[in-house]
Amino acid sequence: MAKAELPVTPEEPRPRIAIYPGSFDLLTNGHLDLINRCRRLFDRVIVAIGVNPMKQPFFTIEERIAILKDATADMPNVEVAQFDELTVHFAYRRGAMVIIRGLRAMSDFEFELQLALANLKLNRHIETLFMAADPKTIYLSSGLLRDIWRHGGDVAPFVPPPVVKALKKKKKPAPGTTYDEMRRPV
Ligand code: ADP
Repeated sequence: MAKAELPVTPEEPRPRIAIYPGSFDLLTNGHLDLINRCRRLFDRVIVAIGVNPMKQPFFTIEERIAILKDATADMPNVEVAQFDELTVHFAYRRGAMVIIRGLRAMSDFEFELQLALANLKLNRHIETLFMAADPKTIYLSSGLLRDIWRHGGDVAPFVPPPVVKALKKKKKPAPGTTYDEMRRPV
């Protein structure tokens, strides 16, 4: 009788998962562009909102989750999550091997390099990948748009519709509020 063939067990291909961490404390078209480009490269992208108890946010964590979920509703391989631990620990727990960060200018680079190297030291299996910002949205930052909104400017051209909707529910600063007061988180 012919010897039974040993079953061939090809190595299970692991899904390629990336974490895109940030505050997203006012989601911009720049963030969304990065998410969209990133999701073409990976099986799954986890947009991870970092909880910082030391910082008073503009949008609560629940609001930011709702906005991000709404803005990525048509992106099946994008998940929205929150985390309150080291990014590498969160990435490891979720089976991600890559942390995505966006680069807008040289001024981003120094801090990002420091962060990437520290993260590599903490877990050498998790790599940081930098993606260049799109020239169309390179000048956008959450802080700039929060300031524009506080001063009565229209942010609709720079943010996805769920942000415009959420901003409509926010109280505008009272007339006569000083510049310093306006800069404080609402
Ligand atoms: P953080 O609080 O970590 O600075 P942000 O929410 O400001 O996070 O940004 C999250 C990530 O998105 C960072 O990697 C940042 O460089 C990137 N990013 C922010 N704005 C843009 C933009 N306009 N274009 C591309 N990437 C961006």
